[in-house]
Amino acid sequence: MSRKLPTAYLDNNATTMMPKAVQDAMIAWVNRGNPSASYASAVQCKKMMQDFRDYIAACIGAPLSDYDCVFTSGATESNCTIIQSIIERCRCANPGRGAKFHVVASHIEHKSIILMLKDLMARIPEMDVTFVSPSPSGHINAADVRRALRADTQMVICMHANNETGAIMNIAEIGRAVKEFNQQIFFHCDIVQSFGKVHINLMRANVDGAAISFHKLHGPPGVGAMIMRRAFANTTCPLLYGTQSSGRRGGTENVPGIGASFKATQLAISSIGATVAHELELKKWLIEELRSRAPVAYFDDYARGGQRYELQIIIMGSASILDSTQYLPNTILLSVAKHVGKNHACNTLIKQKLEDQRIIVSVGSACSTESSEPSHVLSAMGASTLITDGAIRVSMCAYTSREDVKRFLDCFLREAREQYEAARKRGI
Ligand code: PLP
Repeated sequence: MSRKLPTAYLDNNATTMMPKAVQDAMIAWVNRGNPSASYASAVQCKKMMQDFRDYIAACIGAPLSDYDCVFTSGATESNCTIIQSIIERCRCANPGRGAKFHVVASHIEHKSIILMLKDLMARIPEMDVTFVSPSPSGHINAADVRRALRADTQMVICMHANNETGAIMNIAEIGRAVKEFNQQIFFHCDIVQSFGKVHINLMRANVDGAAISFHKLHGPPGVGAMIMRRAFANTTCPLLYGTQSSGRRGGTENVPGIGASFKATQLAISSIGATVAHELELKKWLIEELRSRAPVAYFDDYARGGQRYELQIIIMGSASILDSTQYLPNTILLSVAKHVGKNHACNTLIKQKLEDQRIIVSVGSACSTESSEPSHVLSAMGASTLITDGAIRVSMCAYTSREDVKRFLDCFLREAREQYEAARKRGI
């Protein structure tokens, strides 16, 4: 790796860097004692946590009169706790009677949900799950969710924004379809990638449960929140028992992590408009430059049989990629589609070449590792391995510069062309 170049960090959907103000906030909340104690510094911790809950509730339109907000170790724990507690409630409602119950989940959920559902399906014979696929634009349609609902459906799971493509689901429409069908169905929404990036109103979208992770918005890893409508929370069991967090989640709270997350959230929310404008400008520039230097297609056109070129860059989404109500402003997933030779483009090789230049991006799934499976998200959109093997995700943030994006683009296109030329020359 070259030592002279600064790092261009373009993997902000995986995790973000903590700015100095957030690091300082973390230090400010160390050595305060146990937040469940009664001494003065513990009382301050309790107050800070309550202020943060109030702040989160206001940001996402989930008033604490109707919703619980509990700090967790991250969104994986939040997703697993909420979903498992609802499933456990369904099982307890029919002890020994084996009555079936049904769950509807989008096919593009985070692995913390997909793997859990697969495991629970194998272990709970009464549980039936219908997975709803996205359109080639990456979106889950409310009509498809509505079609999947049944008389015994107990829960619908659909994320707000997808971590790989950045596609933003219309959760208000999905929530309306669910509740019009049956008011009692629990609607869970993973808002990890949208929280602090776009405006959210859970109450208006009829969301009953939500998961948040603060390391996606410049907070520390290992801190999250779970939001659950009180009407459901009061009738479910916790995953971790204990007296903390009103018995909803046992375990001493991570006070320095929560204090730092509070700071990070305030910074993100207070600059949301400026960050969106900055990211959109960079994304627009990236797309225009791409278009001027290579054939480019949107995947939804390409999947409908749009024109093929020997070397083509595919944007995994639709022509509304710059509409921040349709796609996260910070995210763009590109694929190198090589319609020459037998081998597909290799995203791990491209990623390695980028890393050699200190440019950090991610691949949804590696093309070259035998054990790796293609990305479940891209496969569900209808992408073949020709597309998934060449996929590279760029995810920006408020601190990303035009120079970072330019360095990415130059290196990405150079490597895509090298792979193409090598295939053409050697006929592979
Ligand atoms: N949900 C989504 C959409 C994510 O992108 C992630 C993180 O990659 C998670 C859940 C899990 O979050 P955490 O790392 O806090 O467990």
